[in-house]
Amino acid sequence: MSKKYRMIHDENLCIGCQACSVACRSENNISDDVFRLQVRMETKGTFPDLKMNFRRQSCVMCEDAPCVTVCPTGSSFQTLDGIVHVDENTCVSCKYCVVACPYDARYMDPIIKAIDKCDFCSENRLAKGQLPACVSICPTDALVFGDMNDKDSEVYVKSNTHYTLFPKAHLGTKPKLAFVPNKKGVNYE
Ligand code: SF4
Ligand code: SF4
Repeated sequence: MSKKYRMIHDENLCIGCQACSVACRSENNISDDVFRLQVRMETKGTFPDLKMNFRRQSCVMCEDAPCVTVCPTGSSFQTLDGIVHVDENTCVSCKYCVVACPYDARYMDPIIKAIDKCDFCSENRLAKGQLPACVSICPTDALVFGDMNDKDSEVYVKSNTHYTLFPKAHLGTKPKLAFVPNKKGVNYE
């Protein structure tokens, strides 16, 4: 049976240290001024009654992925494990997928001259049995990743023991990146 990957960002545990985004940048040789992963701080309220929250921004690996649907060359595609990839060798940089993505997850890489985004460190780490760089570096275990077909996996257990949401679920793209909303901070889609 093929793996069914999911990642969970627990906003109660995230301290916004950015170790994950730095690790991502290093692991994947991300060019300056673009990013595969950011952790954004958002605040709500009026001083001194302010609440803050850290929200991960990256590809959410949509099951019904608009980026794949609009790609005219088949360079954006999804494998059976649910990971959405970009083939930089056939990408013609038309940017249809950049516009179609409702999560602002894609960008034009100025060095490889193709569209790029998070792929859960598919080739450089998952293929070697390693966790994505962001997950392995997180000092608070705010990120959990694994196979939902494995009922003993941490991601399966956390999915079934914590209240999780999917970002912009109302759009119907069926993300595989979930989050545990911050009980003390702001909750928002
Ligand atoms: Fe949050 Fe962990 Fe990323 Fe730090 S490394 S910003 S705690 S998810
Ligand atoms: Fe494609 Fe954007 Fe969905 Fe990622 S988040 S699969 S880039 S539409």
